[in-house]
Amino acid sequence: MKYWFLYWLLPLQLLGQEVEVFSERTDSTINFYARSPYYCHYTVEIKFDAFENMQSSLPVPATLVIEPRATKQFLLSVWQKEKSKAWKYKFNYRFDQGDLPNTKHDDAYAYYLPYSSPRSHTLVQGYFGKFSHANTHALDFEMPEGTTIIAARDGVVIKTKYDSNVGGTSPEFIDKGNYVLIYHDDGTFGSYFHLKQNGVKVNIGQQVKRGEVIGISGNTGWSSAPHLHFEVLLPSNGVKLTVPTKFLLKNGQVESLQEGKSYR
Ligand SMILES: [Zn+2]
Repeated sequence: MKYWFLYWLLPLQLLGQEVEVFSERTDSTINFYARSPYYCHYTVEIKFDAFENMQSSLPVPATLVIEPRATKQFLLSVWQKEKSKAWKYKFNYRFDQGDLPNTKHDDAYAYYLPYSSPRSHTLVQGYFGKFSHANTHALDFEMPEGTTIIAARDGVVIKTKYDSNVGGTSPEFIDKGNYVLIYHDDGTFGSYFHLKQNGVKVNIGQQVKRGEVIGISGNTGWSSAPHLHFEVLLPSNGVKLTVPTKFLLKNGQVESLQEGKSYR
């Protein structure tokens, strides 16, 4: 009788990734679990490149959603099918940020304008703008440095950058922009970009309400003039997926914004 056991499990940190799937073996089964240090869901796809004389508790490949801050979330188990035969498996997985199977954006939701200001601000680049918004539902508001940035929707802060003090019009500045990324209650992500150095006023893991102060505007990163870049993203399989948003304006109307117009 010969049993053998192949087992490919790299801690994902080694691959520059973040969420980890790991296994534990009992007498009769191998149980797979996930852990994640992040405050948003992740979607993991598990597949077996080899699966000989094995059975699984779920049809494989399997797509599963990992809870925020999971320490040991059970995913699935596998076991040897026929006791007298050799068996092996080779296990593989990949993941994406967010809850891919269950997230849908309500395009009628009334976002707050992402700033609190005594005056109105002009939308200098709208959806699919020719300057830098090709194929993207993103909005650029003209905005003097130092303007108060507020959350457009409830959520939890999952990522920030605040240490940069440089910006400019060439692509070398693309990773120099300060930002806040918020995981919304509906599974989408709100991104607020080009903030001032040390202009992030929230911490990772912090719950924020619509209208709460989250930062101070600036001109960091790939930017030609002081402005705020705002977009809402869907979780996706590697490609950037943005959605259109409507805003509650001071006059009580809920509207889509138009390039060249000013809003408060
Ligand atoms: Zn922009």
